[in-house]
Amino acid sequence: MAYIPEDKLLEIKAAASIEEVVGQYVKLERKGKDLWGICPFHADSKPSFKVSPDRGIFHCSSWRLPARRASSGPMSLRVRVMP
Ligand SMILES: [Zn+2]
Repeated sequence: MAYIPEDKLLEIKAAASIEEVVGQYVKLERKGKDLWGICPFHADSKPSFKVSPDRGIFHCSSWRLPARRASSGPMSLRVRVMP
């Protein structure tokens, strides 16, 4: 299985910030420490896509789990940019 070497991950981490990378594709508006925008992963009508620069993650609060797990609330899609 291919992987990205740790030194390359650190190089990417130093060169890119999550808000700059995501901001190239999603118009973000700062609200406090987080940034919000229209989610690029579904037909979003109001900003439900949050980017948290201090945590290095993004999260869509509109996504729902399949019905069998709906009671557990909104689904979190978290992608860690920084190792
Ligand atoms: Zn979404």
